[in-house]
Amino acid sequence: MVDITSASASSSSAVSPAVSAASTRPAYHLATELVHIDSDAVKDNYNAASVPIYQTATFKQHNADGSGGEYDYSRSGNPTRTAVEVHMAKIMAAERAFVVSTGMTALDVILRLVKSGQEIVAGDDIYGGTNRLLTYVSQFNGVRVHNVDTTDPRKVEEKLGPNTRLVLLESPTNPLIKIADIRGISQRVHELCPQALVVVDNTMMSPYLQNTLELGADIEYHSGTKYLSGHHDLMAGVIGCRTKEVGDQLYFVINASGSGLGPFDCWLLLRGVKTLGIRMEKQQSNAILIADFLEAQGLRVHFPGLKSHPQYDLHAQLASGPGAVLSFETGDVGLSERIVEGARLWGISVSFGCVNSLISMPCKMSHASIPAEIRKQRQLPEDLIRLCVGIEHPEDLINDLTNALRVAGFPVKA
Ligand SMILES: *Cc1c(COP(=O)(O)O)cnc(C)c1O
Repeated sequence: MVDITSASASSSSAVSPAVSAASTRPAYHLATELVHIDSDAVKDNYNAASVPIYQTATFKQHNADGSGGEYDYSRSGNPTRTAVEVHMAKIMAAERAFVVSTGMTALDVILRLVKSGQEIVAGDDIYGGTNRLLTYVSQFNGVRVHNVDTTDPRKVEEKLGPNTRLVLLESPTNPLIKIADIRGISQRVHELCPQALVVVDNTMMSPYLQNTLELGADIEYHSGTKYLSGHHDLMAGVIGCRTKEVGDQLYFVINASGSGLGPFDCWLLLRGVKTLGIRMEKQQSNAILIADFLEAQGLRVHFPGLKSHPQYDLHAQLASGPGAVLSFETGDVGLSERIVEGARLWGISVSFGCVNSLISMPCKMSHASIPAEIRKQRQLPEDLIRLCVGIEHPEDLINDLTNALRVAGFPVKA
């Protein structure tokens, strides 16, 4: 493999932009760490309480050869981006973290580590956009992609071989909320395939509930559009990695392709992530009440906070909570459509992680890019309704759902 890191990473001549400093292990609880931004990450002359937005493309240099400044060009590095990257590295317990333009960009950057002829083992219940990008690289880049049921580690193991470069996991999966044993799979992959990297899309749990690098993954990434920012007011992707070597390779791609997050969005992301702890606690406690309510109605609910979830114990070993995304089946596509359309408080929208509650039908919305026959193969129920629970008062959320169920013709139990 060509050592891409030996090439000059900088956009112009000799200046190497500031790296995201290596993390130190969090000294406080994560809720505390989230709020505290390392003020040394950006040397601000005025001690601004909020990290300044360096809305600039270029930085003046001291010397004629272009050297002397810490930053030269914002594609390569920008102080506001450094601040959020250092913060995210701390939160994810990563050697280094990067912020890029969207969650899909994060995956795109990671996929550049895979050469033609190499293979990827991925889940079969994955984010629709992930499925689309993996299909693209398999069709155009000569990369073989195996989609397997990652809830069964043996199915992953069966596909491992000398050409395996990435094992890509999501847990819980979306929208069926199935659990992959990130710890066990990472261990087996590293034993059997030392050249392979375990990559986890940890968007649904957020770093607040699950730390996949500590579970043994090599790379963890997020759609920062979701819980990390929390308000659906920006798009971002976050990547954290465990080693400097992988960090250098990822940085090279980000600088070369220009996918780093712009200064204003970096600032918004940094502001949003400070409240991740309280948002997630509230969203999760609401979700637990709603899952209980739906299960009591006799509906089939997928949520790892329910004892009826077949992998309840496994999830509890991996994460500190069930999160705030759940799905349920009604047995009838028409009924599901009427429920979704009958909700008033629950906004019909793709995505999740926002402070307000959302309702959707994955097969018609977020996962519509997966062809119908593949959805069927992967046992994705067409009537599935996904709920992404926000921070509203739980009584209002449950009352609104009750009303939507009634109006749709579902016999609600008192
Ligand atoms: C939203 C999402 C993505 C993609 O992120 P964008 O920011 O929309 O590009 C990837 N994975 C999961 C699990 C997501 O929910």
